[in-house]
Amino acid sequence: LKDTIRLDPWGASDIRDYSKLFDLFGIEPLDKSRFKVFASNRYIRRNIDFGHRDLDKILRAVENNKPYAVMSGIKPTGPFHLGSKMTADEIVYFQRLSPKARAFYAIADVEAYCDNGLSFTESSKIAVNNLADILALGLDPDRAYVYKQSEAIQVMNMSFIFSKDVTYNMMKAIYGTKPFGLYISALIQAGDILLPQRKEFGGPKPVLVPVGADQDPHIRLARDLAKKHQSDFKFVMPSAIYHKLTRSLSGEYKMSKRDPMSLITLDDDLFVAKKKVMNCLTGGRESTELQRKLGGEPEKCVNYELCVIHFAEDDDFVKRVYRECMSGERICGNCKKEASELVVNFLKEHQKRKGQLIEKAKELLKKSKEELISSLK
Ligand code: SF4
Repeated sequence: LKDTIRLDPWGASDIRDYSKLFDLFGIEPLDKSRFKVFASNRYIRRNIDFGHRDLDKILRAVENNKPYAVMSGIKPTGPFHLGSKMTADEIVYFQRLSPKARAFYAIADVEAYCDNGLSFTESSKIAVNNLADILALGLDPDRAYVYKQSEAIQVMNMSFIFSKDVTYNMMKAIYGTKPFGLYISALIQAGDILLPQRKEFGGPKPVLVPVGADQDPHIRLARDLAKKHQSDFKFVMPSAIYHKLTRSLSGEYKMSKRDPMSLITLDDDLFVAKKKVMNCLTGGRESTELQRKLGGEPEKCVNYELCVIHFAEDDDFVKRVYRECMSGERICGNCKKEASELVVNFLKEHQKRKGQLIEKAKELLKKSKEELISSLK
């Protein structure tokens, strides 16, 4: 039955119906009435975050002013796209939610090497750029620990310890048939997820991992390994919150970095970004006349998704776009123009902030490396 949807963290995961993941993989539906404390999170409020595992642990930590961590990472293979932005936004949100929260951000350079053949020198340059992005999105560097997988000896050690608990058949059942390097990088990711609970970072605590739905195999593996190592590390089972995947501008269910015109990146030239939005797939009808008569189909429209998921802060604006589209009052050309202005304004501000944060990004990587070395003494 699980073969009806295969979640592949390194390939294409075509998910049309997210509710299927509840039965198939045991992800819990995100009941907003239970998590009112998180209502200021745009992704939760707009049902873009659709599921979770053990989010209650984070809720309790926030309510009781107890320490917790929010952890995720980036594979440094290119500029931030909208999927990377979503994860970064979630890290920033949950870091800001409590003074007791600490953010952990892994630069997955080992994975970039195994999956994309990128040398550590190349990925290191990209990592600084990516890090400047998350800083520009609001990460507080004073409560963040950023590190490269290849330099984090504790992560490597844990992956080695974990390797004795997995068999080829287990990895194949979770990930399908993959090169061994990817299985190893999956064990390293389990090390990343459990790193915040090591004693040098304050010991066992709730850890939230915000991820796209296609990354769930990593969460299942890390939870399984956390359970197996309760007696030696006393790990608390890590929690996760899942967002829906962002479609490409042409409506494909998995964005491909190989076609730059099919996705928006945070480094895009403003003119190019506008052009991309103006060419994206809409839910418009064949003619203006028909659209006036029948209304558009916002559920099929990538332009609508750009507003609702990524660029429109104002809920009333989003509701108005939906209403006017459905009623036929709104026509795609003008609608895309309006969305492209939102995108361009965001990028303009973001790129300005980011330009001032490159040095800070380098500093943060250096500081974390020093912290890592001193924790080993
Ligand atoms: S009017 Fe706007 S929201 Fe509606 S289908 Fe056209 S572009 Fe999409």
